[in-house]
Amino acid sequence: MALTHYFARPLPLELAGLEELAADLLWLSNTGSKQIWQMMDAGLWDATSNPWFLLESVSETRLEHLRGNPVFLQELRNQLEKRKTYLECPTWFDTTHSLHGLGHVAYFSMEFGLSEALPIYSGGLGILAGDYLKAASDLGVPVVGVGLLYQQGYFRQGITGDGHQVEYYPFNDPTLLPVIPVRDADGEWLRIALTLPGRPLVLRVWQATVGRVPLYLLDSNDPVNSPADRPITGSLYGGNPEMRLLQEIALGIGGWRALQALGIDCHICHLNEGHAALAVLERARAFAKQASQPFAVALRATRAGNLFTTHTPVPAGFDRFSPDLIHHYLTDFARDCGISVDEILRLGQERGGADEPLNMAYLAIRGSAAVNGVSRLHGDVSRRIFQSLFPRWPQAEVPVGYVTNGIHVPTWHSAESDALWAQSCGPNRWRQPTEKLEDQYRQTNDLDLWEFRAKSRMRLILAIRKRRKCHCSMLGKTSHEMATCCSCVFEPNTLTLGFARRFATYKRPALLLQDPNRLLRILSNPAAPMQLVIAGKAHPADGFGKELIRRWNAFAEQPETNGRILFLDDYDMQMAKELVSGVDLWINNPRRPWEASGTSGMKLLANGGLNLSELDGWWAEAYSPEVGWALGDGQEHGEDPAWDAAEAEQLYRLLEQEVAPAFYDRDPRGIPTQWVAKLRESVAQLTGRFSANRMVRQYTEQYYHPLNASFQKRSAKNGARAGEIEEQLQEIAYHWKEVRFGPLSFDSAETELRFCVPVYLDELSPQWVQIDLYAEPRSPEESPVCLPMVRSEPLAGALNAFLYRVSVPTGRPAADYTPRARPFHPELFVPLEAHQILWYA
Ligand SMILES: *Cc1c(COP(=O)(O)O)cnc(C)c1O
Repeated sequence: MALTHYFARPLPLELAGLEELAADLLWLSNTGSKQIWQMMDAGLWDATSNPWFLLESVSETRLEHLRGNPVFLQELRNQLEKRKTYLECPTWFDTTHSLHGLGHVAYFSMEFGLSEALPIYSGGLGILAGDYLKAASDLGVPVVGVGLLYQQGYFRQGITGDGHQVEYYPFNDPTLLPVIPVRDADGEWLRIALTLPGRPLVLRVWQATVGRVPLYLLDSNDPVNSPADRPITGSLYGGNPEMRLLQEIALGIGGWRALQALGIDCHICHLNEGHAALAVLERARAFAKQASQPFAVALRATRAGNLFTTHTPVPAGFDRFSPDLIHHYLTDFARDCGISVDEILRLGQERGGADEPLNMAYLAIRGSAAVNGVSRLHGDVSRRIFQSLFPRWPQAEVPVGYVTNGIHVPTWHSAESDALWAQSCGPNRWRQPTEKLEDQYRQTNDLDLWEFRAKSRMRLILAIRKRRKCHCSMLGKTSHEMATCCSCVFEPNTLTLGFARRFATYKRPALLLQDPNRLLRILSNPAAPMQLVIAGKAHPADGFGKELIRRWNAFAEQPETNGRILFLDDYDMQMAKELVSGVDLWINNPRRPWEASGTSGMKLLANGGLNLSELDGWWAEAYSPEVGWALGDGQEHGEDPAWDAAEAEQLYRLLEQEVAPAFYDRDPRGIPTQWVAKLRESVAQLTGRFSANRMVRQYTEQYYHPLNASFQKRSAKNGARAGEIEEQLQEIAYHWKEVRFGPLSFDSAETELRFCVPVYLDELSPQWVQIDLYAEPRSPEESPVCLPMVRSEPLAGALNAFLYRVSVPTGRPAADYTPRARPFHPELFVPLEAHQILWYA
């Protein structure tokens, strides 16, 4: 496929390289690459952060001037040279993993947060996807992203003079976004064809570039589509369930078809959340056709190469579609698959039944070989949520692992932080494994750390004042009012707190406001003053969230706060970066366990800010008293208002009694040694652990390689092995009900208990069954005991009947132990693919 760049006008030859830089969203995110755009047109750059737009907008006169400006040309050459070196240097993947035969990894996501220049994200999920692509590029993992190009991104927020949220929906003009139409060799725009009831739907393919990684984006706004279908990719998370299903058809089915049309051979299909679950069906359909296999065999072959990452801590968070909608939109597709639409439905139902909706997470699970949550705690929570799909299995064995999220450090650290890191750890530290960085960073001395923090805080305060000025002039303030309301907000040497996130109820955005007078007293304590910056959007339909925004604004605007507290409107990636690099302390108080991971606090790490957070999501595994502060007791309390009040009290107390002294107790040089020690440990211990670099390496080693090996085996020779496995599975499913136990017996020797149980398998071959001896853990910290029992003497006069034996050390009573039977197969994912289990009763 040829990529044609897409400018209305050609650039002068000397400036041609600008196109390459403007198109690369990774390059754009790297701190240090922005100067060139500032030199080009500082005003437009500040207003948009979109170099693509700059190239389209600046005048010919300006371009003429720049092509004769040696400083500009030198900077351009530098940037191009650096980018070339980046793209050509051998990567972690090249040097350690290229021989494992991993083809491409397709990464599907409903949203990607790469830069404000491409506003197709709403929050954490999208930013995670963006950071993942960037880290995959840094490490050289052969990933391609797949998503949708929305005509409108998520809404932009304004705040009225009386503190109310208003929503704006600016139009994404695709010619001003850093995306390029994908054309075939003959110059025709690549279009993907889908069938909707009674009509075709075509999706145009665009490409965005993230360093080495291409991101393909589909959109339906093509004049050949019916006017009713053109807005399918109109807005992110907009519309009714029908529209959402159509978007998910476009993403899952359209996305996989696009990869095929592009000739990209993907071995792994990674679903970032269940929205794209239909991709597993399309992948199987395509395999079935190409290999002339039944759909069931094709799904058995291809699911070995599918990974599902779930992000939701509550069952209500999964997308569900009514059987009517599924019948309406997927009947033709099911026919193409060679199955009935009810079979598709059953793949996404728990029990089956005419009115049970199709749950996209269930479909994703039934179409994958591995499932993971996004933090250790979220792994536990997900096993609880998905328990019902694995009835009678112990919760600990529900097949959901975890890979804790991480952030792309070069996107989120400030120039000052970058410089300090480079001093201690060298320039290419985020392109290689990061485990050595911890000790290197510890060498940084107190003075350097503290001066770096002071500079970072000052830079944030200037940015806040500038934003304040824009806001005030929007509200029509006089210049006198502007002077007082803008230049006096925030002080450079005051402890600066930040709280910014979506105003979703579970995040408890008003916990700090539980006792407004107390908060005011804390902020204005003359011996240990604090200032607080707040930001966040409430979902347009969330009246309660909007009311909390109004309350914060009302609180912030009262004269008593003296400019110590400010609500900034329109929280986005740009603002997030300003906040996370400047604030001293980031506060996060969700209701445990509803923050699956959370990533904003991780963005503070490299920048030397500290976290005070609920023991939820990533912080539940990151926290120790050396690195920050913890809120809550590590237990779940639901929505109990009394507990909210108790946690608010705990939060105030921590701020007064621990945070303030740590920040304001200074040594004779003026350095708060206790604070600096904490921040050094936080940076050193946590930055690498919670980086997307670690996350992508973990996905590669823990999932992509083993899944690929299994996919290769099953799919070889047109899925021959998958066919055999499918037959064996059917045999297991058919005969399982015949399995039964005889009476368990045991005898105790000096140091061990010897168990023996007869098992009758009837027509089921013993090679497909494993008998375990199982005992519950005695405490939450312990693992269960689960020992395979050994098949020994056959029993007379019965087909496939044997004694099974095992010995355990004495120490627990024999009654603690129970035998169980479960399917066994060396190439099968149990219990994901076969969840039968029989307990000795
Ligand atoms: C990082 C980020 C998020 C995710 O933040 P959490 O508080 O962890 O949910 C959301 N929105 C923006 C703009 C971000 O930069």
